Amino acid sequence: MQISQRAKNIQPSATLALSTRANAMRAEGIDVINLTVGEPDFQTPKNIRDAAIAAINDGKADSYTPVLGIKELREKVAEVTNKDYNTNFTSDNVAVTTGGKFALYAIAQCLLNQGDEVIIPLPYWVSYGEQIKLSDGKPVFVKPSKGLKVTASDLESARTDKTVAMILNSPQNPSGLVYTKEELEEIGNWAVKNDIVIICDDMYGKLVYNGTRFVSLMDLSDDIRKQTILVSGLSKSYAMTGWRVGYAVADAEFIKKIAAVAGHSTSNLTAVSQYAALEALNGDQSSVSTMREAYEERLNKIYKKLKEIPGFVFDSKPQGAFYLFPNVAKAAELVGCSNVSEFAEFLLEKAHVAVVPGVAFGMSDYIRISYAASLDNLEEAVKRIKMFVEERK
Ligand code: PLP
Repeated sequence: MQISQRAKNIQPSATLALSTRANAMRAEGIDVINLTVGEPDFQTPKNIRDAAIAAINDGKADSYTPVLGIKELREKVAEVTNKDYNTNFTSDNVAVTTGGKFALYAIAQCLLNQGDEVIIPLPYWVSYGEQIKLSDGKPVFVKPSKGLKVTASDLESARTDKTVAMILNSPQNPSGLVYTKEELEEIGNWAVKNDIVIICDDMYGKLVYNGTRFVSLMDLSDDIRKQTILVSGLSKSYAMTGWRVGYAVADAEFIKKIAAVAGHSTSNLTAVSQYAALEALNGDQSSVSTMREAYEERLNKIYKKLKEIPGFVFDSKPQGAFYLFPNVAKAAELVGCSNVSEFAEFLLEKAHVAVVPGVAFGMSDYIRISYAASLDNLEEAVKRIKMFVEERK
C-alpha cells in the first residue's frame, strides 16, 4: 500500500516508544522502574470522576457537543485564563480541544502556509517539530547560546523572512526550567518587533516549585498578548491525561478557523471529558495543590541525590513540570559508552531504569528523568543508577 511522503517524514514519538519497551520488560517479569512517562502517577481526583459518572447517567455524554466545546466550559476556561493572566477573554476566544496536543496541531494547520518557518527552541517537546511538518511548515531549531533557555538574540539568529511563529514552553518539558518575567519580556518584545506569532505552551503552568513565580507571555504587555496564542490543558495539573482535555485561547477569528479544522477532524472533545473538565475547574482545587506539593518534595529529594552521581551535571535546579534533565555525557564516558543514547540503553538493560535519551528533545548529551513516580520508586531508581555508574567507572 502506498505511504504518503508526509507520513514517511514523520518520526514516531520517542518517549512513547521507550515507555512501551520498559512496559514490555515489566510484562516479562523484569523489575523495571519506568521514569520515561510524562504523566502524573495520581488518580484523577474523585470529585472529577464523580462528575463524569453523573454526566453519563444524566444522558449528557451521549451526543456530539458544539465543535469548540460546551458553552459553560468555554466560559469557564475564559474566566480561569482571565484570572490567571489578567486578560479580558470571552468564550469566543476559547477552543476546547482533544488534548493540548490537538490544540497545537490545529494552530499549526490554521497558521502556516507551505514553507513557513517556525522557530523551536532546544530542548523541545517531541511533537512540536513533527506537527509543523504535518502542516507543511518548516521547524527551525535554535540552541540556547547559554544554559537551556533561549534569548531574543538566539531567536534573532534563527529568524529569516519566512519566519512566521515561534513556540515557547515554560515550565519546560524536558528541562523543568521556568522563564523569568524579564526573559519573557525580552522574547515577547522581539516577537512584536518582528511580527512573529508566539505559540505559548503553558501546559505545566500550575506546576512550579520552591517559591518559583510562574509568568506567562500572555500576562505581559497588550502588544505581546496580541501576538500570542495560548495553549494549555488539564492533563498534567489535574492528573487527567486520559481524558484529553486541552484548549487554545486566541483572537476570536483565529478560534473560528480552529473550529473549522476540528469540525472536520475530531468533531469535539469527548462529551464526558468536558463535564469532567467543568468540575475540575469549578470544584475544589485542593487536590491540585496536594499533587503539586508531592512533586515538589520528590524534586527536592531526588535532585540532591542525582547530583551526587559521578558525571551527572545540571545546568540549574528545575523549577517546574515534573522532569529532571541532567547532562550525563561525562557519566556515559565514565562507564565506557560511546554516547548518551547507549548509556540510556545500558541503564534500561543493566540497571532496569528507563529514562529518555536527550536526543528525543534535540540535546543528545542529556537524559530526561520523570519524577511523576512514587518517592520509593524514585529513590530506588537513583540508587540503581548510582551503583551502575560507580561500579563501572
Ligand atoms: N505540551 C507539552 C510541553 C507537553 O509535555 C504535553 C504532553 O506531554 C502537551 C503539550 C500535550 O498534552 P495533552 O495533549 O495531554 O494536553
